[in-house]
Amino acid sequence: MSEKENDNLIGSLLQSWYAQHKRNLPWRATKDPYVVWVSEIILQQTRVDQGHDYFLRFIERFPDIKSLALAPEDDVLKIWQGLGYYSRARNLHTAAKQIMEKFNGVFPASHSDILLLKGVGEYTAAAVASIVYDLPCPVVDGNVFRVLSRLFAIGVPIDSASGRKLFTETAKSILDKQNPGTHNQAIMELGALICTPRLPKCPECPLQAVCLAFEEKNVTGFPVKKGKTIQKERYFSYFHIEQNGYTYIRKRNNSDIWKNLYEFPLIETEAPSDLLKLQANSGFSSLFQSAGEVYIEHKLRLRHVLSHRIIHADFYRVELNGQQNTDLEKEFIKIKSASISEYPVSRLIHKYLETI
Ligand code: SF4
Repeated sequence: MSEKENDNLIGSLLQSWYAQHKRNLPWRATKDPYVVWVSEIILQQTRVDQGHDYFLRFIERFPDIKSLALAPEDDVLKIWQGLGYYSRARNLHTAAKQIMEKFNGVFPASHSDILLLKGVGEYTAAAVASIVYDLPCPVVDGNVFRVLSRLFAIGVPIDSASGRKLFTETAKSILDKQNPGTHNQAIMELGALICTPRLPKCPECPLQAVCLAFEEKNVTGFPVKKGKTIQKERYFSYFHIEQNGYTYIRKRNNSDIWKNLYEFPLIETEAPSDLLKLQANSGFSSLFQSAGEVYIEHKLRLRHVLSHRIIHADFYRVELNGQQNTDLEKEFIKIKSASISEYPVSRLIHKYLETI
């Protein structure tokens, strides 16, 4: 069989398998570019079962580009709360405004114009362009890397520049140019359901007869990776203040994690801490020096894992008896304690709030 015939065979095997086995997912029932785009952004770094309900809530609250563009950012972040990687929500919001201003409210229809949208990279542009507009753009996401590396026994690391180039060329060479959207969805679905990272279901795989890694009995030897992600450990102490039915929060507005989400007063330390050590910290005295009588109790310790960081968080419940605290009011927003649920917060703070 020639290389070309083999590529055509892979495309047709993939698509007939997909026609029978694809999951019935709400974003697959439409060719609305806005809806497909939102689903693609939600599904980056998120499993389908976790993203499904978020997608439905997001589309219900922001059914089109205009409603998203006009919404306050706090509302967008609130709907996103718990999904993580909040830059995705901020970028969706910015891109919706971009579409209103630069494309007269109409979702762009070319691969190069889709790429101009904030937060849209090569993968998302190719996915929307092929699924919605049938443009012959190959997608290469984690699932596709894995399937292709096994199918062709590619030993070049997927996290190298040469690897990314090679995998993109390989995806392009097997792409069914007549049905690029279905082809792309089929290979991603195969990676999600059959050619899984651990224990791939090779006996059920439509590509088994043409899979080199299977033939070499080395399916788990692929894909090859260069290096592991180093996770930095960070130590947070949060102070949930209670003062006559009010509490204090602030918006994180630096370039660190959780930008524009709200949080309680925080002291970050280089190493694990406790109340005694915190009381000697200058951050502690600047928070509470003018607070009068302060009662503090340790409530909860949580370990929260992000892609590049592990956060060790301690939550302290603080009772202040005074009526006013001008130092805290200068730096933080004073809100009614009961209204904390209206503010977008990180999953970590959300977990704490669920315990009180
Ligand atoms: S035969 Fe196994 S390793 Fe090869 S593509 Fe199918 S599931 Fe993946």
